[in-house]
Amino acid sequence: MAVATHLGFPRIGRDRELKRALESFWSGKISEEQLLTVGRELRRRHWRLQQALGIEQIPSNDFSLYDHVLDTCAMVGAIPERYGSDRSQIDLKTYFAMARGGENLTAMEMTKWFDTNYHYLVPEFTSKQAFHFASTKIVDEFREAKDLGILTRPVLLGPVSFLLLGKSKEKKMAPLHLLPNLLPVYGEMVNRLSQEGADWIQIDEPCFVLDRTPAELQAFREAYSYLSKKKGQMKFLLTSYFEAYRENLKTVLSLPVEGIHLDLVRGKGDLDSILRSLPENWVLSLGVVDGRNIWRNRLRESLTLLERVIEKIGSERIFVAPSCSLLHVPIDLDLETSLDTEMKSWMAFAKQKLQEIVALTRALNEGLEKVQPLFEEADQAEQSRKQSGRVLKPRVRKQLQKITLEMLQRCSPYSTRKKAQRSLKLPIFPTTTIGSFPQTPEVRAARADFKAGRITLSEYEIFLENEIRKAVRFQEQMQMDILVHGEFERNDMVEYFGERLEGFAFTQNGWVQSYGSRCVKPPILYGDIVRPKPMTIRWAQFAQSLTSKPMKGMLTGPITILEWSFVRDDQPRWETARQIAWAIRQEALDLEKAGLRVIQIDEPAFREALPLRRSDWPGYFKWAAECFRLASSSVKDETQIHTHMCYAEFNDILPALAEMDVDVISIESSRSPMELLESFQKFKYRSGIGPGIYDIHSPRVPLADEMVGLLRRAVQVIPEGQIWVNPDCGLKTRKWGEVLPSLRNMVLSAQVMRLQFAKLRRKKR
Ligand code: GLN
Ligand code: ZN
Repeated sequence: MAVATHLGFPRIGRDRELKRALESFWSGKISEEQLLTVGRELRRRHWRLQQALGIEQIPSNDFSLYDHVLDTCAMVGAIPERYGSDRSQIDLKTYFAMARGGENLTAMEMTKWFDTNYHYLVPEFTSKQAFHFASTKIVDEFREAKDLGILTRPVLLGPVSFLLLGKSKEKKMAPLHLLPNLLPVYGEMVNRLSQEGADWIQIDEPCFVLDRTPAELQAFREAYSYLSKKKGQMKFLLTSYFEAYRENLKTVLSLPVEGIHLDLVRGKGDLDSILRSLPENWVLSLGVVDGRNIWRNRLRESLTLLERVIEKIGSERIFVAPSCSLLHVPIDLDLETSLDTEMKSWMAFAKQKLQEIVALTRALNEGLEKVQPLFEEADQAEQSRKQSGRVLKPRVRKQLQKITLEMLQRCSPYSTRKKAQRSLKLPIFPTTTIGSFPQTPEVRAARADFKAGRITLSEYEIFLENEIRKAVRFQEQMQMDILVHGEFERNDMVEYFGERLEGFAFTQNGWVQSYGSRCVKPPILYGDIVRPKPMTIRWAQFAQSLTSKPMKGMLTGPITILEWSFVRDDQPRWETARQIAWAIRQEALDLEKAGLRVIQIDEPAFREALPLRRSDWPGYFKWAAECFRLASSSVKDETQIHTHMCYAEFNDILPALAEMDVDVISIESSRSPMELLESFQKFKYRSGIGPGIYDIHSPRVPLADEMVGLLRRAVQVIPEGQIWVNPDCGLKTRKWGEVLPSLRNMVLSAQVMRLQFAKLRRKKR
């Protein structure tokens, strides 16, 4: 008999109870006991829900008060010294200090969980790292469920992935060297769970789907040969997701485990090899339901696939599952009351996905008749999605077919454009900002008031005009060279455009955990994209009318809009990105027509959209850069195109960056400008570069001297004519009290540099 299961459930709660409880606890409004009670209630509710839906093997320890990687650090006692590590058991205060920092205490670093929008805390290791069993959470939660009469499958982040996801504080030591020290703690844990009566344990080793060296593969072998000796009767289900195992599959299949999971949405390529060489008696967990997207499953297609597998290996060894943990989708579609019924019928959130898993399992075990209605609903949904005029718009498709190679290129090469852009009359070390100014409580209140109908459109517009007026005035006073309007009208850089384009839908409660108590509500991109009317011209034009200095039009780029939305799965991503790019292209043309001579197209998500495997990068670079050029190259030579990307690791994407052919790029580098610029130098990058010299992630006001220092270092690597002076990201999270003096200092630092270079130039003459 096939078994219905899954790999993890969203933690935050249908009303975001966990978020509220955490934030109340942090601000001292509720006690530790109250917070822990909310956690317990959520776990109980989720387990009961899964049970009621018919999930047979229910995970535990998928819950976390903050993050499961942090939980693993706590479990093995990987507590960096600054938090005071000599405790035998970690307490909640230490746990949250690691997550969020504290007085004079920096938090652990946070980074993206593979290519998702979930962030985990990066384990920190030293060569003297010792490990000990410092949190019994996994055992406690197993017992908690057992007391409710539910025998769960505990989820554990595997030792090799845990180390590989971490960072060594010492350059010479690779975290993997710590494996021999770490394994005894894992062994103890495994042993404890086995004694508690767990019959399966799910060990997540997602690092198995990335490029791996032979030494790393050897580490997997060592780890599992050690752990298999500690598990008694308990069985190991090894899980990986987000990609195929590819060449690592041989190693996976040689491990002493009792089953593996395969992501059939992104890793289908492995299936045939697995079926050919799956060890006898191993269970195969088949991730047929997409755990990363919100579309309803094509049940019939999934059933055919499952039956094909059963034909080969029988039904006794099959788990039916989502492709990955359901952490990455919202919890329950039933909470959505404003999506129309047709649109809703196309979707499935976590709860609905579990229903799909159960339906598929029952179809296998009891016959299709038993679940006929659900299958019919799925068929109907698929038909309606295929035929809907909201999804397929022949007009859009025809337009896109007409795209020529010429349309993907600016009129002239950079050197010619550079001359044409002299009309902007910019000094050397030109100054600008990244776009947004503080989103003050007043700005947010005005937007909320307008949305709720408490103020009229014209009242709202007057408010925005005033904000823009103030912003323009102070930028002029400061003698900023290229001005921005401040983005006061925008809630979020993707949502704002999604709301103005056809093809996007929005949920009321579609929250997904981003990190800790933070959740995001991604737009849903369901159909062909149409721009019914200009989206940003109203404010850009108004702002430009207030000044004779160049105003920068602000757009979000196609890759970022794609990456930060739930996107349609009925066509390749590049095709969807192209449609977005087409809409942005029209907007750029309209900005130019409206008199804007500088246009910035932000692509902060360009790097995170990189495929997980290096061999897939060139393909991505090609279509992504092409989309960017489609969006950006309709304008005249005189119009200066900027882009902004906020991260410091550029080595990987430099080839693509050159292909994007922008006039100016601003990047995040206030902390390590040299290293970064060196890679640009090596790459012989010719266009303008703004190595953000003001770190907007901190409330601190940088001194002009410091910024001069950074610029002096920058000119040692990059010719001064290429350098721009700007903060390293938008200022929307900062306060005016910090922004004004910081920007004043920033402009001052540019002026100091100009003086120095004017002198130098005179001397040379
Ligand atoms: N223009 C945007 C802003 O200034 C860019 C935000 C970002 O890079 N994430 O807020
Ligand atoms: Zn940024």
